[in-house]
Amino acid sequence: MRKIAELLALALISIGIDEDIADKFEKTFSENNEVLESRIVEDLGVEPASARRILFKLQYENIMRYRKVTNAESDRNHEVYWTLNKEGILKLVKRRVRMMRQNLQKRLEYETSEIIYECANEPTHARMPISDAMAQNFICPECGASLIQTAKENIIENLSKLIELLDNILSDLEK
Ligand SMILES: [Zn+2]
Repeated sequence: MRKIAELLALALISIGIDEDIADKFEKTFSENNEVLESRIVEDLGVEPASARRILFKLQYENIMRYRKVTNAESDRNHEVYWTLNKEGILKLVKRRVRMMRQNLQKRLEYETSEIIYECANEPTHARMPISDAMAQNFICPECGASLIQTAKENIIENLSKLIELLDNILSDLEK
């Protein structure tokens, strides 16, 4: 249960839920598989209407499911229980990690295949492949300094490490 609750927090953050709320969800569901809606509202510490909005968003994203239980002895007609949809959570997290990996891979290919020039004065001014640098006469369009060839070893190494890290996470998620 613990692992899936951690993944839940990741999944929530990846769809734009506040980190604070995601942490509370993780806490609530790390011990319980199924939680009463009123308990979730209480744990989140937000208005019931906003808690319900979040819950239905999670249902829409296929991260959570609910069931209604009719309670004859209660003054309310029914109680709502929410459970984690483990498969949905796994699927979402995997999809997000794969997307990140794909972007990093594209960036790595670009960095590896292109000769890249940047402003000698301030790299954030301009960074471009050699063909574009030629078109600029190797002059920074921002400040007029020379464009010089970038040392890419560190970038390539860091990108490769990140990709490896994501690969490890993905293979861990497959288990
Ligand atoms: Zn410049």
